[in-house]
Amino acid sequence: MAFKDPKKARAYRRKYYQENKKRETLLRAKWYAENKEHKRARDKVVVDSLGMRALIILGGRCARCGYNANNNALHIDHVHGDGSRERKTVMTSKTLRRKIAQGEIVDLSPYQLLCANCNNIKRIENNEFARPKPAAIMAGEE
Ligand SMILES: [Zn+2]
Repeated sequence: MAFKDPKKARAYRRKYYQENKKRETLLRAKWYAENKEHKRARDKVVVDSLGMRALIILGGRCARCGYNANNNALHIDHVHGDGSRERKTVMTSKTLRRKIAQGEIVDLSPYQLLCANCNNIKRIENNEFARPKPAAIMAGEE
């Protein structure tokens, strides 16, 4: 069935899916089982390239020391230290990378790139811990 109007085509596909949900779900599960490796590899390419674009948009190097030797050691840091709250309530870090890469987040001022070392040092300096520090648990505080 060919539609010139994309809205009509979308409505048709939606209606078809609703009427054939069980069959479609089974077919998709079967396709996924047969193409698992292919699908995972494709997804990884997309996630990696979005992550790379997000790093470039944020300057491509550590905001404190300038480190840029290995992208795996560059983290998107929340300037105000509310990263763990954001990851739990608003969006995952994967979603954050995608939104930055696709230009959905206009105000980038709450974010900066930090290398793993600088990110850890900042966390300790600013006392940004999602969980109580081991020392606090040992002392019975919480
Ligand atoms: Zn650094």
